[in-house]
Amino acid sequence: MILDDAAAFVAPFRITKGKGFALSQHAPDDMGGATLTKDEAKTMLELGKERLRELQEKLYASDTWSVLIILQAMDAAGKDSTIEHVMSGVNPQGCQVFSFKAPSPEELDHDFLWRTARCLPERGRIGIHNRSYYEEALVVRVHPEFLKGQRLPPKNPFAAESGSKDFWAERLQAIADHERHLAQSGTKIIKFFLHVSKEEQKARQLERIDDPQKNWKFNARDVAERAHWDSYMSAYESAIGATAAKHAPWYVIPADRKWFMRLAVMGALVAELESLKLDYPKLSPEETAKLTEARKALLAS
Ligand code: ATP
Ligand code: MG
Repeated sequence: MILDDAAAFVAPFRITKGKGFALSQHAPDDMGGATLTKDEAKTMLELGKERLRELQEKLYASDTWSVLIILQAMDAAGKDSTIEHVMSGVNPQGCQVFSFKAPSPEELDHDFLWRTARCLPERGRIGIHNRSYYEEALVVRVHPEFLKGQRLPPKNPFAAESGSKDFWAERLQAIADHERHLAQSGTKIIKFFLHVSKEEQKARQLERIDDPQKNWKFNARDVAERAHWDSYMSAYESAIGATAAKHAPWYVIPADRKWFMRLAVMGALVAELESLKLDYPKLSPEETAKLTEARKALLAS
């Protein structure tokens, strides 16, 4: 079964070195060499949920690592449904989801890492960030006019160059430094780019218009954003290139087939959590003796 060696299954999608990263080498309808049907993938996803549940329980019990899952994608790639299908087996007490939209006035009053930093997972927990600080080098890079709202100080050496290469390189460096610090403090960072093609996005947006049950998901702004597709792709490419690291890998997940995308995300989570070699805490001899005493006391009561 494919998840028995999850690391091998997801290896084609895992990026740990940014140098030379090119999105064009990652096709949205690729399967990384895996041969598998939709039904098989569904069965494996169910098995993956079991495995993820066990891993999460050990994560919680060992109380050492926290897990930060970052989900980034173009509209309609399936971030929400991935969270729903992949994480549904996990104990809700050990997992929290935060969605980051356009920043509020309070958020704009702080540096751009503030709002996500407040929502980082505690040790033993999984935190899912549905969009993240990466938006600061994606949507804001595509629409540099958003920088005005951030009121960066005029003397900021980078503000003067808004839109220049150095400004964005600096921003991405800030993110990379932040992630390095988090990793050093015990955060397992797992980043996903759900990579959908422009054609498939069109089909999904049309479905949102044509299917009354999906009308609520439709947003005319998302259609307008398609005009900036190439700028988004190049922003993604440089963001991934600047921040992929062993301690903070990116997974570029082919997203044109939803069933494959979900299984690949599951595979990545299983592989990354397994790499932590989690186990239940071992009791010291004193603690074992206390347990024996408690047992005796319980039986005698
Ligand atoms: P869905 O459409 O699936 O409900 P979503 O994540 O697309 O989920 P929306 O409310 O549609 O949610 O969009 C959120 C918008 O907020 C996106 O267009 C995103 O680019 C934007 N956004 C997120 N972070 C920032 C930011 N830091 N600055 C400006 N815009 C941002
Ligand atoms: Mg949206």
